[in-house]
Amino acid sequence: MALIVQKYGGTSMGSIDRIKNVAKRVKRWHDHGHQVVVVVSAMSGETNRLIDLAQQISKQPDPREYDQMVSTGEQVSISLLAMAIKELGVGARSFTGRQIAIHTDSTHNKARIEKIDVQRVQQQLDAGNVVVVAGFQGVNSEDDITTLGRGGSDTTGVAMAAALGADECQIYTDVDGVYTTDPRVTAKARKLSKITFEEMLEMASLGSKVLQIRSVEFAGKYQVPLRVLSSFDEGKDGSFDDDFKNNVGTLITIDEGDDMEQPVISGIAFNRDEAKIVVRGVPDHPGIASAILTPISNANIEIDMILQNLSTNGTTDFSFTVNRTEFDRALDILNNEVKDDINAKEIHSDSNVVKVSLVGVGMRSHAGVASTMFQVLAENNINIQMISTSEIKISVLIKEQYLEKAVKSLHTAFGLDREDGESQVAGL
Ligand code: ASP
Ligand code: MG
Repeated sequence: MALIVQKYGGTSMGSIDRIKNVAKRVKRWHDHGHQVVVVVSAMSGETNRLIDLAQQISKQPDPREYDQMVSTGEQVSISLLAMAIKELGVGARSFTGRQIAIHTDSTHNKARIEKIDVQRVQQQLDAGNVVVVAGFQGVNSEDDITTLGRGGSDTTGVAMAAALGADECQIYTDVDGVYTTDPRVTAKARKLSKITFEEMLEMASLGSKVLQIRSVEFAGKYQVPLRVLSSFDEGKDGSFDDDFKNNVGTLITIDEGDDMEQPVISGIAFNRDEAKIVVRGVPDHPGIASAILTPISNANIEIDMILQNLSTNGTTDFSFTVNRTEFDRALDILNNEVKDDINAKEIHSDSNVVKVSLVGVGMRSHAGVASTMFQVLAENNINIQMISTSEIKISVLIKEQYLEKAVKSLHTAFGLDREDGESQVAGL
């Protein structure tokens, strides 16, 4: 008998029929003698609908009231799912984050989970019931409802699994695992059977949207075995437990394996949310980087890639990227608060850029990844605007129009293509 936490996202809970399907799957696990805790998101589109209501009243809704309201989507889906499970003759109980309780800090709209009381859940499991938990929400020390940020149900799932010491946390979604890259960009993308936490974390922060970044951090920190799999695949009955152990979806592990065949690159991530700002003709002396970037970070704008050119005639160009949603704000700050102070000649900006990144723990033991990457881009006539690296990733900033070409050619060059060249994703 295993203790399994299953998390179902909005698409998997998107209609009454889909909820009934989730109930059937939960029943199968239960029938096989496993204890099951299910964490669910709101039905697809519901959270957006609620946010839209709030925004019709205020551009910046009161954070406490926002959480109070936006958390209701999950209250609906937990109770519907518990009803559906009961209809199948299995005991089930639903709980909101506050009922459990999932304790968080007080940062409304992006609260962090601090502690989870598991007694109530454990009692229900011991009584043979399935426990259905509302994702995305918690309660702070004032007894107010908090939410964890968009996509936060993933984090609830992992946190429940950590608190309960579950054997596995399964994230059911509308794709059947983590892919080498987005299958919408190349049909040759391949499903990975395994990926390390470190790689997954890079993939998530570099733009792969399969899991909320914080859930991966959490899983890594508490070493929760995490599996991403499709809620639309019906596993073959009979081989059920084998399925669970073997290769269903993608397992995210701490184990890097001692496999000599470990690929150098595990995946290619890309991010269309970048925008580039170049401050031209700034005097090259100490304090300039700080004079440019401090006002930006004081305004809570995150800076991603940074590049300072070699100086000629005592002046230099200083470039960096920010998220496109914060681009206008960053430009305003530079033009109004920084430009004259530092005597910059010009501020130039470009939002038609994307960041393409290679990710792989195999990079640590293989030289030449960067040079192969640059060579492939050069052969395709793609100009690199900025570069950044870490131990297990290399990112380049390129013109948005070359995204597909870059991803496809790198995917092939690093041996990631599917052998049959056919997409595994239905409809692509
Ligand atoms: N319902 C929330 C959202 O749409 C949380 C989640 O789905 O994970 O962001
Ligand atoms: Mg999600």
